[in-house]
Amino acid sequence: METKTRHTAQPQRVILKPGREAALQRQHPWLFSGGIARVQGDPELGAAVPVYSADGDFLAWGHYSPHSQIRARLFSWDADAAIDTPEFWRQRLQRALAARATLLAAGRTNACRLVYAESDGIPGLIVDRYADAVVVQFLTAGMTARRELFTELLWELLAPRTLYERSDADVLQKEGLSSRTGLLRGAPLAGPIEILENGLRFFVDLESGHKTGFYLDQRPNRQRLADTAAASAQSGHAPSLLNVFAYTGSFGVYGMAHGAETLVNIDTSTEALALGRENLAANGLEGAVEDIADNAFGVLRALREEGRRFDIIVLDPPKFAFSQKDVHKASRGYKDINLQALHLLNPGGVLFTFSCSGAISSELFQKIVFGAALDTGRHTQIIGWLNQGCDHPVALTFPESAYLKGLICRVADHRGQL
Ligand code: SAH
Repeated sequence: METKTRHTAQPQRVILKPGREAALQRQHPWLFSGGIARVQGDPELGAAVPVYSADGDFLAWGHYSPHSQIRARLFSWDADAAIDTPEFWRQRLQRALAARATLLAAGRTNACRLVYAESDGIPGLIVDRYADAVVVQFLTAGMTARRELFTELLWELLAPRTLYERSDADVLQKEGLSSRTGLLRGAPLAGPIEILENGLRFFVDLESGHKTGFYLDQRPNRQRLADTAAASAQSGHAPSLLNVFAYTGSFGVYGMAHGAETLVNIDTSTEALALGRENLAANGLEGAVEDIADNAFGVLRALREEGRRFDIIVLDPPKFAFSQKDVHKASRGYKDINLQALHLLNPGGVLFTFSCSGAISSELFQKIVFGAALDTGRHTQIIGWLNQGCDHPVALTFPESAYLKGLICRVADHRGQL
């Protein structure tokens, strides 16, 4: 009896090992299990708990994730703030929404990421807008425990036609959570919905498409490709375009809408390629388009053997490295496809090459592409560095959120000149 009284009287708190407070003081939002000396008071899954140093100083508030290596997701460094109330989260959401207002204001784009988790001060929450539908991912114990609260807040602040849940990302496993998808509020989805991005139309399958349906992070890079195609077309040469790892063909749609003459899409997913066809049609772009539903590694070699060449190539593969241990193998994969793509470029051709693996740094990626270029023997320049769009911001306290990197490379023309 006495033991029980003492136990419940203990305040809930996480106490660090001596000397482990530096990352928290720099406001990094992840507290790893290895830095924790003990957890007092038996907090519930997802509870808001204060974190203290070994010396007893308050450091931060976090959502407790007992089954994850990231034992707490930190979201406030203010000891006295009224944290974790509906008003607190409403303000965080409003700040994130306000930051996207200009992107959506011009009326040429009605799809973007509205909330990017830790980088917007709301760990574990992803919110994407697709026209009048909103897709949500609750990816941590803290967010799962607040599903009702955030559903209510998003419904109130965004007033969408449909609020749909896609909590089916890989990271859920690491949190010890199961996936959950389905309608949260509003009208049920009836097939893919149509969005507008930079004035172009795309169908997005919110129920079973990749991520929350579309690679929103590539928006500015698709525009860069459009600019490159348009510049070539305006100078009298309508370019040929090869879109590798095409998914629903978004880069190809931009290219064809801005002056490309021919398009080849490669992707293993026949459903994605089929939706890509509809995307071309939605923009009035039927024409010289070829879809190859096969493994890109083999197709690139086959195209090279057939003597096919292209003016612009996009390489946007899925994540090859899921953690540090995959980096070596992933690097070989990136090198292989970049080598093949550089061989497939016409003289003066341009390669848009990407990696979305957080574990591959931009420096390493540039080295890999350099290695590939060296092996082709083609003189190659970098003419652009690309990143994720501004609706996927990177909090300076959380550099891990910078995951997408890309290079625009140009090979020498037929005179050997760049
Ligand atoms: N560029 C696209 C996103 C590409 S996502 C966009 O902007 O929308 C990566 C795509 O690669 C997925 O559609 C997946 O189906 C495809 N893919 C994965 N492995 C592949 C392989 N070995 N060969 C061809 N396609 C592959």
